[in-house]
Amino acid sequence: MEFELNREQKEIQKAAREFARGEFDRELALELDKSHEFPKKIWRKAGELGFIGIHYPEAYSGQGLGVLENIIVADEFCAQDSSIGSAVILSSFASECVLRFGSEDLKQKFLPPVAEGKMLSGGAFTEPGHGSDITYLDTTAARDGDEWVINGTKTFITNGGLAGFYCVLCQTDPESSPPYRGISMILVEADREGVSAADVGDKMGIHLMATAEVNFKDVRVPAANLIGEEGRGFYQVLEFFDESRILVAAQALGIGQGAYDRALAYVKEREQFGKKIAQFQVTQHKLADMATKLELARLITYKAAWNYDQGRIDPKLTSMAKMYAARTAVEVADEAIQLLGGYGYMTEYEVERFYRDAKITEIYEGTKEIQKNTIASAVLGKFK
Ligand SMILES: Cc1cc2nc3c(=O)[nH]c(=O)nc-3n(C[C@H](O)[C@H](O)[C@H](O)COP(=O)(O)OP(=O)(O)OC[C@H]3O[C@@H](n4cnc5c(N)ncnc54)[C@H](O)[C@@H]3O)c2cc1C
Repeated sequence: MEFELNREQKEIQKAAREFARGEFDRELALELDKSHEFPKKIWRKAGELGFIGIHYPEAYSGQGLGVLENIIVADEFCAQDSSIGSAVILSSFASECVLRFGSEDLKQKFLPPVAEGKMLSGGAFTEPGHGSDITYLDTTAARDGDEWVINGTKTFITNGGLAGFYCVLCQTDPESSPPYRGISMILVEADREGVSAADVGDKMGIHLMATAEVNFKDVRVPAANLIGEEGRGFYQVLEFFDESRILVAAQALGIGQGAYDRALAYVKEREQFGKKIAQFQVTQHKLADMATKLELARLITYKAAWNYDQGRIDPKLTSMAKMYAARTAVEVADEAIQLLGGYGYMTEYEVERFYRDAKITEIYEGTKEIQKNTIASAVLGKFK
């Protein structure tokens, strides 16, 4: 059993850490958190330097590396800043649907601009009436000659309104039984006639990321925009989750780590009752618990990524990593606020923002309850 990153992975880790330290400015993060703006300049630079789509083949402007290398970057970026890090690592959200299932034409056209930091992508799966349960959808795509005609509304779409394209789950056969066998995935360019996006409104955290309702009204796209196979969209999105949930686990892990680092530095400086607060045993025990949870979250997240790169797709392990890392992020960020006392509650000290940014990792890409359902069904198997 080998737990060491190899030399190349350590170099990527170091490069990602140095880039984030140099670019993820604290004041800028506070400002963008208030103005709810996407960190465009940093995203572009991250793309130019090869931090986005590191897991794409070189032919599509990637670096030919794996999910593990991608999550090393995510971990480092989010630890340096929960808001900027999250926005940059999810700038390519759902592009893996094109990477894993798309035609050569779609890959060549859409993956390089995403990896180069020139285009954002989005995954449009959730609908107002279908969130955790996407086994049937109200968004339809009907075949008309050599085109698809798409109608429907998707909600809570990350990068909505900014993305160049969306991977949209559509009901292509409403009569299909079970209905999920009639779901397909179609790439829709955001500038097609009939596509519109509207912000969903104020949210708790991840203010640097757009979250929109995306509407499709008689949107026509070429038949060749089908991603993968007709009627396989539901299965494809489940496979995509096996990869994307590891990235969300890494996002959570980084956020937890960043909150912990800030609390650790603070307790060594702050004095009360004539002592550094780090000298109180209760503080030490809190730090011990936080450090242990982060270690466990890192082990399972990196294992899930490594496992994926070995070609072993294991939804149970992925869900365990996502569920555990997300809970850890929320708990560690909460404790970090506590350790900073009243200052922890103040925006300037950052940990409250890390806490707000952490919570989403227990909700999107499948809530923690849905992760538990996946784990439980794998553990129990079929029984009567
Ligand atoms: C900021 C943000 C960004 C998002 N980004 C995207 C995106 O880019 N693309 C996209 O398609 N979606 C996105 N989502 C949507 C997200 O994936 C859904 O919100 C999530 O899957 C839950 O769906 P829901 O909100 O409809 O909740 P519901 O499914 O209505 O769930 C409500 C509650 O019931 C529980 N529940 C539901 N079913 C079960 C069950 N079988 N067993 C036990 N408990 C259950 C849930 O766990 C939850 O606690 C985003 C959401 C947010 C808030």
